Amino acid sequence: MVKVSARGADEVSSRSATCDYTQPVAVPSSLTPRAVAAMGRAMRALALVLAAFMASCGPFVGGLIDRVREAPAPAVSERAATLHRQAPVVDLHADPLLWGRNLLARSTTGHVDVPRLREGGVALQVFGIVTKFPIVPSIERTNPRWPDAVTLLALASLWPLRTVGNIEARMLYQAGELHRMAAASNGTLAVIETRADLERLLARRAGGADVVGGLLDIEGAHCLGDDPANLAHAFDAGVRMIGLAHFYDTAFGGSAHGIGKIGLTDRGRTLVHDMERRGVIVDLAHSSAATIADVLAIATRPVVVSHTGLRATCDNQRNLSDDQLRGVAQNGGVVGIGFWDTAVCGVAAADIARAIKYAVDLIGDDHVGLGSDFDGAVTTGFDTSRMRVVTQAMLDAGVLDASIPKILGGNAVRVLREVLPR
Ligand SMILES: [Zn+2]
Repeated sequence: MVKVSARGADEVSSRSATCDYTQPVAVPSSLTPRAVAAMGRAMRALALVLAAFMASCGPFVGGLIDRVREAPAPAVSERAATLHRQAPVVDLHADPLLWGRNLLARSTTGHVDVPRLREGGVALQVFGIVTKFPIVPSIERTNPRWPDAVTLLALASLWPLRTVGNIEARMLYQAGELHRMAAASNGTLAVIETRADLERLLARRAGGADVVGGLLDIEGAHCLGDDPANLAHAFDAGVRMIGLAHFYDTAFGGSAHGIGKIGLTDRGRTLVHDMERRGVIVDLAHSSAATIADVLAIATRPVVVSHTGLRATCDNQRNLSDDQLRGVAQNGGVVGIGFWDTAVCGVAAADIARAIKYAVDLIGDDHVGLGSDFDGAVTTGFDTSRMRVVTQAMLDAGVLDASIPKILGGNAVRVLREVLPR
C-alpha cells in the first residue's frame, strides 16, 4: 500500500511505466514448484498483514493519501468572487466516497465534504465510484494481475463484508452511502438523478438556499461485469454517469492505461446505446484513444471527459490530444480540466488556468469545464473550499469574463440538461 499512498489513482508518474507487463515473468530454474507455492503463501500472508494494518487506521488512509501541497495562489478579487457567485459551479469529478468519511462534517483531511463544497460555492459535485484499482498502477500499462487496492480499502474502511469480494456490491454500497448522507443532510445535499432534480437544485440555489447537488459516476464499467444488462443495477442505484474503463481494459472498452489499448467492443457499443437511452452520461476519462474515437463516432448525446489534462500543456498518456479535444467539442460534450500534477504539470491554480485557456483558445468556451479529481488519491494545491482561486487564475490567464461562468459549470449543466432522464 505504500506505493498507493505515494502515487495515487491519477497521480501516477509516467516514469513508473517502464515495465513491459506483456512479457511472461521468467521463473529461475532453481525454484522448485514447492518453493513457488511457498512464495505464494508468503504473499497471501503479507496481504493479510497489510489488510490487518489498514483495518486499524481505516478511514484515515484517505487523509494520508489525498493531501494539499500549498501552492502559490492568487488573491481573489471582488470581480472573481462575483463571477464565481453567479455561476452554477460544477466539479465533474471527485472521489471522497472511496474513503469512508462522513461528508456531512467538515474534515481536516482530504479535499471534499459538504461544508467545504458550500464554502467553495460549488453547486454540483460529481462523485466518482471506484471499485477496483491496482496496487501498483501505471498510466502507460497497468498489469491487471496486480493485487487490487480497493479490496484492502474495503477492509480498512470497514465496508460491509459483501463488498470485499464483489465489485458490484462496492458500487452499490458507495452509491447508497451518498443517498444515506443526503437523507441525513437536512437539505444541504441533494442527489441529482433527473432533469427535474437539477432544475430544483438550481432554483433552490437561486432562491438563496445553500444546497449542494451530488451526481454519481462509476469510474470504470468493470463493476458491471461483462453484461451491459447490469446497467440496470447501476441506474436503479442512481448512477447517471459511467466511465467505460479505469486502469484496466474492460469487457466494454480499452483503458488509456491498459495493456491492449483496445477500442469499444460490441458489448461496449450496446452499453453506450443503453446509457444514452436511459439518460446516463458517457464519461471518457481514462479511456484509450481507440475507445474515445469509437464512442465519438457513434454517440448521439454529448459525452464528458470528467477529469483530464491536455497533452499540449502536460504531455503524457493520461491526457487528451488536440484532435480528441476537437472531437469532444464536435460531439457537444465537455472536458473537465483536472487539478493535479499529472493533469496540468503542477498543482497551482495558474497551472489549471493555463490548460483551461489553451482549451478555450482551441475549441471555444462551450466545451471546457472543471474536473478536480479531489480525493482521487492525488495531491492538489488547495481543497474545494478555495475553488475561487481557479476563477481568479482564469481571469489572470486572460480568459474572458463572459466565458468564465460557462467553464465553471454552465457547460456541464447544459450537458446534464440534454442527457439526464426527465
Ligand atoms: Zn480517475
